[in-house]
Amino acid sequence: MKLEELQELVFRAGIVGAGGAGFPTHKKLSDKAEIIVVNAAECEPMVMVDHHIMQKHLQLIVDILNFLLDTIGAKQAIIGIKGKNMHLLDPEAVKNMEGTRISVKQIPDVYPAGDEVVLTYETTGRIIPEGAIPLSVGVMVCNMETLFNIWKLFNENTPVVEKYVNIGGDTEHDMTVKVPVGMKISELLAACDCTDIEGKRVINGGPMMGKLVDIEKDVVTKTTKGLLLLPETHPVIQRRLQPMSVTLKRAAAACCNCHMCSDMCPRNLLGHHLEVHKTLRAASHSEITNAESFTQSALCCGCGVCTVIACQQMLDPQAISMAVKGELAKQGFKRTNNTTPEHVRPERAGRLVSSDLLIRRLGVGKYIKPEVKRDMRAFSPERVYIQMKQHVGAPAIPTVKVGDTVKIGDIVAQTPETALGTTMHASIPGKIAEVSPFEVVIERQ
Ligand code: SF4
Ligand code: SF4
Repeated sequence: MKLEELQELVFRAGIVGAGGAGFPTHKKLSDKAEIIVVNAAECEPMVMVDHHIMQKHLQLIVDILNFLLDTIGAKQAIIGIKGKNMHLLDPEAVKNMEGTRISVKQIPDVYPAGDEVVLTYETTGRIIPEGAIPLSVGVMVCNMETLFNIWKLFNENTPVVEKYVNIGGDTEHDMTVKVPVGMKISELLAACDCTDIEGKRVINGGPMMGKLVDIEKDVVTKTTKGLLLLPETHPVIQRRLQPMSVTLKRAAAACCNCHMCSDMCPRNLLGHHLEVHKTLRAASHSEITNAESFTQSALCCGCGVCTVIACQQMLDPQAISMAVKGELAKQGFKRTNNTTPEHVRPERAGRLVSSDLLIRRLGVGKYIKPEVKRDMRAFSPERVYIQMKQHVGAPAIPTVKVGDTVKIGDIVAQTPETALGTTMHASIPGKIAEVSPFEVVIERQ
């Protein structure tokens, strides 16, 4: 198969990064990639989706990696996994990798090992320049579930209509389920017997980078991964509920300029010029004389180490940095003075944040269960709400009208191929009930 054909099929199947912001996968597939790095780090506490795919489908992942290596012309693939999770790998599939272009690399049990800049360094020794993507150093990083979606496309002719989701936290059991894209989160929780939600809030993602969910309005998208229930009084929730005006006032009053937040920052430790204490002080003191204090936030990945681990004053540099980054992005700002680090900072090894420390600081240890069940119950929502923006880039544009009949897998929206985006499909059979620039609603028939 030619690379262009592969890119077209992946675009039409609506495959986007299932583990992060939803970068359209067809744009990652490039003949410039020498190494495919498989992100199996899954370093946020309590998120276990990729663990289950690794356990159950590793041979399929190896098969699709071989196909991708041949098609894009890359030389090797490296599966980056924490040593503590090696036992999850199917021994037969690992044996089959011996002497092939695919290998497993143990990475340290630290946070954020799954950040693609950190992962690229840990698996290949290559440092991605500031503001650049992995391809700039010949690497394509792909998440486990994304690869599984590519396998399903070529082996079952299935576009992305389902999402693996982990439900856990302050729940009786933790489980991983397979859910139709577009199902309401309230219905999903009810169908999973999570009815005791009084006084709790839900985070989509992990406790470090996840976002608060509006239980009544939000739906499952192609990037929903972990739905984590926590009491509203928990610090992980309280931090997210704090208005930015209060965050800034607290920073102005209490920051002692110790710069521990910058010293512990994983991107800074890789040699990037990201000193978040300067952003925090500039924003909280309204100091606008040094623009770089703001523009450097473009290098921040929002991992939260500065807030949860580094700051002893309980301030929130992560929130401030991400707010500044978001505002600059909205205004179309692009940082131009990016540099390429030649080596990581010598103190990096001593400043890595272990998963154990992270769990203690977050105060989520009591919610971690010994087992996360893989629960294959079927969900049959009466309505699904297919969002037009589930990915990085331009929203998809509906291609159906009210009253049309669709079956599972039919295309209901697509981003023009000239723009960065993807394709959306019906996840249940039925009639189109509503169409807007934001969503296509399908009613089961
Ligand atoms: S959230 Fe904080 S620690 Fe993480 S990359 Fe941004 S500035 Fe660095
Ligand atoms: S660690 Fe906290 S107190 Fe120290 S500079 Fe950063 S924000 Fe200020």
